[in-house]
Parts: sequence; structure tokens; C-alpha cells
Amino acid sequence: MTQNRTAVITGAGSHRGIGQATANALAAAGWHIAVLDIDEASAKERAAEVSRDRGVSAFGVACDVTDVDQVDAATITVESELPPIGALVNNAGITSPTRFLDVTDDEWDRIFEVNVRGSYLMTKRVAPGLAEREFGRIVNLSSVSAERGGGVFGGVAYSAAKAALLGFSRALARELGPSGVTVNSVAPGLVDTDITAGKLVPERKEAMVADIPTGRAGTVADVADVITFLCRPESSYLTGVTYDINGGSHIH
Ligand code: NAD
Repeated sequence: MTQNRTAVITGAGSHRGIGQATANALAAAGWHIAVLDIDEASAKERAAEVSRDRGVSAFGVACDVTDVDQVDAATITVESELPPIGALVNNAGITSPTRFLDVTDDEWDRIFEVNVRGSYLMTKRVAPGLAEREFGRIVNLSSVSAERGGGVFGGVAYSAAKAALLGFSRALARELGPSGVTVNSVAPGLVDTDITAGKLVPERKEAMVADIPTGRAGTVADVADVITFLCRPESSYLTGVTYDINGGSHIH
């Protein structure tokens, strides 16, 4: 099965990250794949793996989503190398555990730049083509921390930035709905990735898992499956929604 459309996934270079899993899942559903990442080598590596393992066209492009020129250049490259863009997954994100009383202005700005402005810039460049072709799926990576005011790493800047993406998604869903473009958010809880494995001490992770109703951390596949579902052509009536993917952690 092929969609004859391209899914653009930002921050998909990370080995064992949510972006990589999403690229694989969307490729398995027939999408051609553009892997964007600030790290050019890993973007190209992941794209080569996807195309080798899944038999779709895939292209890896260096792109810092906070840099207007790089976003412009990457979008143009994807449009010239691959079939028309049909989906955008704004996955590139950075986190920070810094407590509010310790956070610097620069750190606050950087968290917002990557998570919020990066998603804005990518969407601003990609959405016109989606609206013109009257089909599009946009998925933004929020976090359980947007709702709960603290998540895996807990920082105020991160929670605020991920909450901003919820408002962004809902307002955009309203605006782009008539053009056949859906906009949704996913809000993962604790997910086992290199980032969580490297930064969480085992005792902290055990305590967090004990608080999850399903009794386990999420996997990248848990998140990728929901994103792939939202990107299906048949998911045209789902928009402006936030999908909690957290084993029940959102139950208060
Ligand atoms: P990850 O660190 O494995 O992957 C993030 C990727 O983004 C990396 O490949 C990195 O190079 C890239 N990146 C960073 N800054 C960039 C920039 N300016 N431009 C382009 N690419 C950039 O992280 P992950 O755990 O796979 O998380 C993916 C997304 O899911 C993030 O938005 C994160 O906030 C969100 N999330 C993760 C968890 C979790 O527990 N892992 C939970 C909730 C939400």
C-alpha cells in the first residue's frame, strides 16, 4: 500500500526516539518519509534505514527547526525530492528539568524556540501546500506535563511550551478544517527513549512507573501508532484533539 504522499517528521534522527519510530510506522502505512533533524548525519542514516527496511522513498535533511533559512531550504528540498507533502509531525523538541527559580532567560527562550517556534515555522511553510491540495495531517508533540504541570523532567519552561502547542493545535484545527487539514496533539507520558534512559536515575524511574495505572513506561511504538492512526486519510473527522498516551497517568 502506498499513500503517494510524503510525511515530514522533524527531530526524527534520534536513534530509538519517537521520531524514528513514527517514521517507521508511517512508512509501514505506505507514506514516503522526510526525516528532518538538526543532526544531518543521523537524519540521513535514519532515512536510509527507513527506505531500506520499508521500501518507500525516504530522504534525510539537515534542519534546525528554529532557523528560518534552514526550514525554508529543507521544505524546498523535500518538495523537490519526494511526492507531495501530506503530513507534518512536529516532533523535534528539547526538555529541561531546571526549576523556575533557577532558569535563565536564555534557557527559557531556547525551550520555547525549539518546541513552539520550531513547530510554528515548520507548519507555516508546509500548511499552505496542504490547504491548496485540500488534504493534510498535522500532529504536534505535546506532553503530559502540559496538563499536569510537570512530567518526566518537570521544568516549568517545558510544561509551558508543551501547553502552548495545545492552543496552537486547537486554533489551527479550527482555521484549517475547511481545507481538509486536521491538526491534533499527542501528549505522551514517560516514554523509554535514549533521553529518558540517560537522564533518569533508576529510583526516580521506578517511582514514576509505580504511579502509572498500566504499570509500565510507554514505548516509542505506543506513540508512533497513535500518530500513524491520526495521519490516516480515514481520520478526517478527528481534529483539534489531544491524545493522552500515558498509561492512564492523566487520571487525577
Ligand atoms: P529525542 O531527544 O530522542 O529526539 C529529539 C530529536 O530532536 C533529536 O533527534 C534531536 O537531534 C532533534 N532536535 C533537537 N533540537 C532540534 C532542532 N532545533 N531542530 C531539529 N531537530 C532538533 O526525544 P524523544 O524522547 O524522542 O522526544 C520526541 C518528542 O516527544 C519531543 O518533542 C519531546 O518533547 C516529546 N515527548 C517525549 C517524551 C519522552 O518521555 N521521551 C514524553 C513526552 C513528550
